[in-house]
Amino acid sequence: MPLLHPPTLDSFQAAGQGQCLQGQDVLQSFDRLLDQSQGQGPDNPLTWQARFEHVANPAYGNPRCLHLTVRVSVPQVCQRCLCPVDLAVAIDRSFRLVETEELASEQDAASTEDVLASSPAFDLAALIEDEVLMALPMVPRHEVCQVALPASVADADFAADDPARPHPFAGLSRLKA
Ligand SMILES: [Zn+2]
Repeated sequence: MPLLHPPTLDSFQAAGQGQCLQGQDVLQSFDRLLDQSQGQGPDNPLTWQARFEHVANPAYGNPRCLHLTVRVSVPQVCQRCLCPVDLAVAIDRSFRLVETEELASEQDAASTEDVLASSPAFDLAALIEDEVLMALPMVPRHEVCQVALPASVADADFAADDPARPHPFAGLSRLKA
C-alpha cells in the first residue's frame, strides 16, 4: 500500500469518475489525532481507503457516493487503571454526496443515510480525522486491565454504576498529592 496522505480533491468529479484512492499514513500527520493521543504513537500506521462512485438509486436521481474505510490505533489513557491503552479504531461508512451544504443539511435530516456536501476542495484528511475522533470512546479503557487492582475495584467492573467504584480520576489526585 503506498504511503500517502489523504488528499484534498474534487469529490463530485472523483465520484463521477469512480475513483478509488487508498494509502497508508501515520498518526502524526493528523494534528487533531495527535492531540487526542497527547503526542503518543506518532508513528502508528493509519490505513485508509476512499471509494468514490455512482450508485443507481431512483429516489435520488444519479447519486454519487463515498465509501470510507479507516484503520488506526490511537493511544489513550485507560480511565480504570491509568495505564496507556491502544484503542483500535475501524471505520467503515458510506456517505451520499450532494452538491451543496444546504442540500446536505436538508437531506441529512430527512434520510437515514449519511449525507455529505461535495466540494471541489473536499478535504478527505479532515473527514478521516472527524470520523476517527467520533469513533473513540468517551471513557477509554482496557477490556481487561493488566495491572492488579484491589479486589473491590475488580468486582465493581461487573456493575459500572456501583457508587463504591473509585472515580476514574481518583488516581490523578493521588499522583498530585
Ligand atoms: Zn486499564
